[in-house]
Amino acid sequence: MTGILTVQCMCGQAAFELHGEPAARAHCHCNACRDFYGSAILSATAWNAGAVQITRGETAGFTHPVRQMSRTFCARCGETLFGTNRLGMRVVPNSIVARAGGSLPQAWQPSMHLFYRHRVIDVDDVLPKYLDGWDGPQFVLA
Ligand SMILES: [Zn+2]
Ligand SMILES: [Zn+2]
Repeated sequence: MTGILTVQCMCGQAAFELHGEPAARAHCHCNACRDFYGSAILSATAWNAGAVQITRGETAGFTHPVRQMSRTFCARCGETLFGTNRLGMRVVPNSIVARAGGSLPQAWQPSMHLFYRHRVIDVDDVLPKYLDGWDGPQFVLA
């Protein structure tokens, strides 16, 4: 997919654009994402900061008290628009992107599992399952 996709929150008050292609696509099982996003697995794409631009609405932010993570959310409905990770990348949940297009674009489907060591749900699929980050060892079924 190339071009610009406009994504909006549940209530429609806030919107942002995604420009081009994500830098990474993953299901993240880490403790930090689980706590911070309130979901057993965070399925998301990661973007360079400049590729994500808020175009409408009032947003608010929350910075994790300890970790280098923050969230930007709609000031009215509270839905997370995107997070910012410790590398400064924007982390956009697949749920909000899927709403924009009716489904998640095929090219943006997750390509791997990260921090599978910390999972609370087992996943039976063919994607590589890295126990920690993508530069480390993979989970192997015993
Ligand atoms: Zn909203
Ligand atoms: Zn994570």
